Amino acid sequence: MKRPNVILINCDDLGYGDLGCYGSTVNRTPALDRMAAEGVRFTDYHVISPVCSASRAALMTGCYPQRVGMPGVLFPGQPLGLHPDEITIADVLGAQGYRTKIVGKWHCGDQPAFLPTNHGFDEYYGLPYSNDMGIQGPAEKRAARVPLPLMRNGEVIQQQPDQRGLTERYMEQCVRFIRDHREGPFFLYLAHMYVHVPLFVPQRFLKTSRNGGYGGAVECIDWVAEVLFHELERLGIDGETLVIFTSDNGSRAGGEGGSNAPLRGTKGTTWEGGQRVSFIVRWPGRVPEGGVCDELVTSMDLMPTLARLAGATEPRDRRIDGRDIAPLLFGEPGARSPHEVFYYYIRDRLEAVRKGKWKLHLAKGAMFAREAEPLNALYDLDRDVGEERNVFDEHPDVVAELMEVAEEAREDLGDTIKGVAGKGCRPVGEVPDPKPLCVYDENHPYIVAAYDTPDTPVMGG
Ligand code: MG
Repeated sequence: MKRPNVILINCDDLGYGDLGCYGSTVNRTPALDRMAAEGVRFTDYHVISPVCSASRAALMTGCYPQRVGMPGVLFPGQPLGLHPDEITIADVLGAQGYRTKIVGKWHCGDQPAFLPTNHGFDEYYGLPYSNDMGIQGPAEKRAARVPLPLMRNGEVIQQQPDQRGLTERYMEQCVRFIRDHREGPFFLYLAHMYVHVPLFVPQRFLKTSRNGGYGGAVECIDWVAEVLFHELERLGIDGETLVIFTSDNGSRAGGEGGSNAPLRGTKGTTWEGGQRVSFIVRWPGRVPEGGVCDELVTSMDLMPTLARLAGATEPRDRRIDGRDIAPLLFGEPGARSPHEVFYYYIRDRLEAVRKGKWKLHLAKGAMFAREAEPLNALYDLDRDVGEERNVFDEHPDVVAELMEVAEEAREDLGDTIKGVAGKGCRPVGEVPDPKPLCVYDENHPYIVAAYDTPDTPVMGG
C-alpha cells in the first residue's frame, strides 16, 4: 500500500451540531457534506479535553494531556509548553520521509523550545495561541497586552494581522505546500482560527450566511475545504491523500451561533457537548463512501493510526494512550472501538468516566476553577446521548464498576479533587526566562489592526 499524504483540518471550538452533515439547518457546508458522503462520518469521536491547549497536546502526542503535563490552557509568554522530549505526529511522519507543515493555531507553548518547528514540523505559518489574545479592545488596555503574532517558522512576521483576511492567507499557504510536495508524501496540519471568538469574517461570507458572523465563519471553513479538494483533484493526488476534518472541542454555544445539538453542555465542560465533536475521514478508494461509524474513537488515536499508515508505529519507549483505528476508517467487517474505557478530565480534575455505553459523572466545576462540586449521575449514551435521564439509582452494579474505572484513572493520571498524583504522568516543558513573542508598540509598522470594539466581536467589514 502506498503511504498516503495526510491533511488534518482541525477547527477551533466548532460544535457537534455545526455542520449540515451533523444536523445543522443554519450553516451551509456543501463541501464538508460532500466529504462525508465520499468518506466516513463518525458520531462518537471524542477530543481528550474540552479546552484548546490540552486537546491539541493530546492530538499531537496520542496521550491524555495529564500524561504529558499539559492539562490546562496556555497564555502568551508563559514558561510552559509541550516538553521537547515528547514525540508528535509530525516527528513520527517526518522520520518516515514526510514533508510536514502546520498552518494556523498551535497552542502548545509559545517559547522557542515549544514551537512547531521544534516539535517535528518542517514549516510553520500561523498563530501560536488563540485569536482573542491580541490587542483588540480599549486603547488603554492595549499597552498591557501582547499583540497577536503571526509567525513563519520561529519568526514573528506580523503583529496583529487583520483576521478578516487571515483564513484566506492560511488557505494560500496550504495550496502552495500541496503543490510544492505533490510527489508526496506530505503531512499538512491546518489548524483553523475559526470559530473561536472574536469572529472577524470576510464580507462575502457574511452576505450569504443565514447564521450571522458565526455562519459566515463556518462557510469560510467549508470554502477552504472545497479549495483543497479541488487542488488535490487538479494535481491528480486525490486518491493518494487521506483528509481528516475535526474540531478541538465543542462550541461555547453562548449565543454567537454555535451548536452542540443534540448534546448537553459546552466547551469547557465534560458533558458530551464539550468533547464529542465532528470527525470526517475521506480517502477515495480506501475509505468506504457514505459510511457512518458509531464506535468510540478519540483524537489520541490519530498518532498510532497515522504512524502505521506511514509505515512506522507510535513511540514504543513510553506510554501512548491512543489506538490504531484504521480498521474503523476502512470499514473492515466487525471492527470495534479499541477503547474499553475513556476518562473525562478538565484540568487535573477527573469529572467523568465511560465504559461502553455507560458514562458516570463524578463532579462538575467551571473551566478555570480549581474546585468542583460532586455529582452522582449515570447516563446510557446509546439511548440518551443528550444526558437527560440520570439512571444512577437504577444501576448500582454499573456505578460500582465505573467507580473502579475512576480509581484506575486516578492512580495512573491523578485527580486533584481526591488529592491524588498520577503515577503515569510525565513532566511539562518549562523554560526559566520566558518572554512574550512581541511587545506592543503603537508605532510599530506591522500593527495593522487595532480594533476598537471591545465588547462586540467585529464580524465582517
Ligand atoms: Mg478550542
